[in-house]
Formats: sequence, structure tokens, C-alpha cells
Amino acid sequence: MAFIDRSSEALEALREQLANPRRCVVVTHQNPDGDALGSALATAGLLRTNGHQVQVLAPDPAPPFLGFLPGVQQVIDHRRNASQCELAIAGADVLFIVDLNRLDRTGGLEQAIRASSAPRILIDHHQDPEDAFTVAFSDTASCATCAMVADIARALGWEQHVDKDVATCLYTGLVTDTGSFRFRSTDGHAMRTAGWLMDLGVEIEQVHQAIQDDNTASRLRLLGFLLSQRMTVLEEERTVLLTLSREDLAGHQHQQGDTEGFVNYGMSIRGMRLSAFFMERADGVKLSLRSKGSLHVDSFLREHFDGGGHVNAAGGRFNGTLDQAVERFRRLLPQLLATHPA
Ligand code: 5GP
Ligand code: MN
Repeated sequence: MAFIDRSSEALEALREQLANPRRCVVVTHQNPDGDALGSALATAGLLRTNGHQVQVLAPDPAPPFLGFLPGVQQVIDHRRNASQCELAIAGADVLFIVDLNRLDRTGGLEQAIRASSAPRILIDHHQDPEDAFTVAFSDTASCATCAMVADIARALGWEQHVDKDVATCLYTGLVTDTGSFRFRSTDGHAMRTAGWLMDLGVEIEQVHQAIQDDNTASRLRLLGFLLSQRMTVLEEERTVLLTLSREDLAGHQHQQGDTEGFVNYGMSIRGMRLSAFFMERADGVKLSLRSKGSLHVDSFLREHFDGGGHVNAAGGRFNGTLDQAVERFRRLLPQLLATHPA
């Protein structure tokens, strides 16, 4: 179902913000994925076609496998160009915040965003949005922020501005956030949107290949190592634990983005209903959880690991060692599983 009513308040507010040419900044989240960059670049393309100036910012650089996204080279990342990002935010008339709903997800950009008095337009599908936005398009039932951008474009009557490049960006976010149209969030509307984008010229074979067939040998070896040496299957709990220490990562020439999707291998074991991936970093431990059915991992991570996300896919962090993170998780696990015994 399309979430947008053409006369909705948010849409009216957005129309008002864009009534005159504006300096827009589009911001997305840390370690940006296909939906983050796809929705940011598509939003930027649509705004530009409508006469606005646009800069696209991210806390971290785009991962190499998303290098095929049209316009990805325009993304300015805070890690390498902090002052340029801060100048862009300070000079913006309107801020678009896409594919995140808590400003701490913008990492190094957060301070500049909070300091800016420009209106903040949110477009996002994660649970539990922060009350920090002037105009909020927030739909937790939507499979991808890219699906929402497609809906907003249509609701604004901008269909003719969705060119092949914008369509490719939107299609990419649909593919990555739905696990190639297989997660529960994939509905008929998502499939129809994908069909519409294909009709606009998206070369779907190229997109799927870029996303799926872009392993490096070292990433595959790291995955092999993880599955053979660092995987614990808790049969009774129907839970899989996956861990990688900094030494494990360094020993496999780890690059940013290499561990993307590893957590799903735990979920692919027959009978499992929870998969937890722990990755040690310089600043603590990053957690990724995936679950099936009514086991809500977003609220669990929000409560115990300073995180959040979606009902069945969420992330968080822990200040401490890898062993301490795993120990804390195992201590809390019975409580989490008891929320939905099945
Ligand atoms: P992943 O486990 O792949 O990093 O993230 C799964 C989902 O949860 C993604 O939609 C991601 O945006 C979100 N997510 C990941 N880490 C965090 C976090 O620390 N806080 C919040 N609020 N969401 C997160
Ligand atoms: Mn998303």
C-alpha cells in the first residue's frame, strides 16, 4: 500500500519548503548501505531537476560495491572532508535526513546538524523516530526509504523527473533493504514500484550483479574463517553467535563493508530464529542482530546496546571488549527469548 496521501500535512509542508529555489543538503547514516545512498542520491537528483542546489553528505565513505550508483562520486564524507561537510550544513536552507531517524546515526555530522536552524525533513522507515524533525515522513511498514522517496516523488507529481539514474538509485535501495525482495517487508507495492523503475530503464542485471558478485578473495576467506572458527550454534535457544576480533579482521585484510551481510548466514541455518554478529572495533563492539517472526530485536538493542533499527534487523554497540559484549548478550538472551517463546 502506498503510504502517502496526496493532501497529507507532511507533503504540504514539503511543497512549501520547496516553493522557491533552495540550498539543500541531503544527509544519510554511518556506514551507508544501498538504501541510504540510493535514497540520498535519488532525493538529490529529484531536487536538482526541480531547480534546487544540492549537496549529499555521509558520515563515512560509500563502500566500494556501491561505486556503480549514478552520482555516488558527489557524496562528501565527513571522515575525509569534515570541514566541507560542516560548511555545507551551515549554509543549507533545508536539510533532508534520509534512512535514519535518530540524529546520532549521522556520526560526525550530528553536531553541525543540531547547530543548524534549517528545517529538517525526515524520510525514513526505522522504528521509534526521535522528535527532532520539522517535517517527518516516517513509515515503519515501508520496506525501504527508497520506496518512500518513489512515493513522495509520485505524490508531488514529479514522475517525469524520475530518470534512469534516479530510478537506478531507488531500485538499488529496494533490492538491498528487502534482501532482493525476500524479507517480510516486501509487499505488492514494493514489487509494483520495482516494476515501474524497471520500465524507466533500470538495468537490473547490472544492479544485482554489483550487489551480489562483488566479493574480494579476502572477504570470502574472512567469511569462511568466521563460519568455521567463530560461529557458536545454541541449539536450544535456536540462536547463532558470530564473532570477529580486531586480530581476526586484521589477519584477513579487512576493508570497510567486508562484513556486510555476514549476520544473515546465522539466520540461514535451519531452525534458527536469532542471529547475533559481534565485531570488535577501535571504539568498542558493533552488534548486528537478525530475527524471525515476532522476536523484536530493535527494542532489545535500544534498551541494552545503545542501538535500534527494524523489528527483525537492527544494530547496536557496546563499550568494552568482545568477550564482555558476548557475555552481556548471553546474560540478557533468556530475557529476550522469553518475550516471544516459540
Ligand atoms: P546492521 O545490523 O546491518 O548494521 O543494521 C540493521 C538495521 O539497523 C539497519 O537498518 C540500520 O540502519 C539499523 N541500525 C544499525 N545500527 C544501529 C544503531 O546503532 N542505532 C540505530 N538506531 N539503528 C541502527
Ligand atoms: Mn533503509
